[in-house]
Amino acid sequence: MKLYVFEGGRAHLPDLSHLTPDRNFGISVTIPFLMFLIDHPKGLVVVDTGVDIDTAEDPLLEATPEHRIDRQMRRLGYEPNDVKYVVLSHLHVDHMGCATLFPNATFVVRRSELRAAWWPEPYDRGYDFDGILQMRNLKYLQPPDNETFDVFEDGSIVCFDTRGHTEGHQSVLVNLPKSGRVVLTGDAVQVAQNFTDKVPPGLCWNSQLAVQAIDKLQHLQMEGALIIFGHELSQLEDLTLAPGYYD
Ligand SMILES: [Zn+2]
Repeated sequence: MKLYVFEGGRAHLPDLSHLTPDRNFGISVTIPFLMFLIDHPKGLVVVDTGVDIDTAEDPLLEATPEHRIDRQMRRLGYEPNDVKYVVLSHLHVDHMGCATLFPNATFVVRRSELRAAWWPEPYDRGYDFDGILQMRNLKYLQPPDNETFDVFEDGSIVCFDTRGHTEGHQSVLVNLPKSGRVVLTGDAVQVAQNFTDKVPPGLCWNSQLAVQAIDKLQHLQMEGALIIFGHELSQLEDLTLAPGYYD
């Protein structure tokens, strides 16, 4: 079993307070986009698909076509058509942007997240309504909010409830034979300060639940898990990025 960590480009945000509400006004920040591939004996699993570089028109974005997840996978010898499951932490645009590149996969997305994304509140800027419509005909498993979802029913890839950032946010615990437990937080933790200071992440649906999710992730770290944050640039130096892997 192998876990690959891909960087899918990065964005230069003028203001860190976007990710740490009520603090860090006027401090700019660069955030990477992360995507993951797990090569499991029973099949390939992608966790979060990143931004679609080919169609994104964001002037804040710094990425090349080679950052797109399908091209990074092919460079390692993996075919997007062979992916069995795609787990999406949530449906904000930087996490589901390349979902339609995996038409054969079964998507694991929380039921409440799908509904929130398909009819977002008018003020919610995180969802890309046109992009979500393209995902309408994909195949879904929709776990209820409070349940864990064990992808291969063997404890190796377990999705768990970290609602708060969005209505149906989930994180993924990967249990590896040598590297031990690695947790892919998605945007339950966007930058390190969310984690260390227990600050709810930006674009937050429910701050109280977001902090409860951070508690859960802190407990996992206390018990030895490696916690990979959603958008913390400084953490990339400590991670093994593809073509390297955790096993
Ligand atoms: Zn994000």
